[in-house]
Order: sequence, then structure tokens, then C-alpha cells
Amino acid sequence: MDSRLLDLLVCPVCKGPLLREGDELVCARDRLAFPVRDGIPVMLEEQARDLDAGLEPDDDA
Ligand SMILES: [Zn+2]
Repeated sequence: MDSRLLDLLVCPVCKGPLLREGDELVCARDRLAFPVRDGIPVMLEEQARDLDAGLEPDDDA
């Protein structure tokens, strides 16, 4: 993917910067990973993966 394209991409939720993580674009602030399909970033919140999903709160901490 063109790195200059990435520079133009911001998180659709918070308008913050995104980090390239493999085939995903990650917003560290929202803990969301947006998929890149066939080289095309899918900047839709409903398509994003929640990075915190599957992490159960530890009540004993
Ligand atoms: Zn964000």
C-alpha cells in the first residue's frame, strides 16, 4: 500500500492517526483495527475489529 495514502487516512471515529499493523489499520485511541481488503482500507466503524474483544475483565485484579 502507498504509504502516502496511509498518511491521509485517519480514524473515522476520532479522526486520529492510524498505525499499520499487518493487514489492518489500528487506532490506538479507540482500540479498533480497520481491515485492509485487497489493498483497500475499509474505514467503517462497523467493520472494525475491537482490539479489546475477547479480553475478559479480571475482577480479581
Ligand atoms: Zn480512533
